[in-house]
Amino acid sequence: MTDCLFCRIVAGEIPATVVTETDTTLAFRDIDPKAPTHVLVIPKEHHQAIGDVDPLLAGQILATAHQVAKQEGIDESGYRLVFNTGKDGGQTVFHVHCHVLGGRGLTWPPG
Ligand code: AMP
Repeated sequence: MTDCLFCRIVAGEIPATVVTETDTTLAFRDIDPKAPTHVLVIPKEHHQAIGDVDPLLAGQILATAHQVAKQEGIDESGYRLVFNTGKDGGQTVFHVHCHVLGGRGLTWPPG
């Protein structure tokens, strides 16, 4: 989708700080980090939300997220994976993405 911000990052039209990449997923640093590690993992293919993603691709997104946590050195201390979904879920970019957050103690519940 040419009008999708994250599709444009996949296409290389908008710069991003890429952390890791697979055939089907891309991980890059969030432009407005909410924690010392804040990386977004997206499928390269456009899907609006996690409910639109088939189980194989969903698993690939999660595997990449765990790989990011290992690379960032937060897999032992702990981290949080978040899929904001829809209006009440706080989703602002409608290309499914998994937030990988860590590097500090995270509070609960979220706002
Ligand atoms: P959400 O609110 O869950 O839809 O998350 C969208 C995320 O995308 C936010 O955390 C934004 O800071 C992040 N974001 C928006 N534009 C960019 C960009 N150009 N590069 C990296 N992250 C971005």
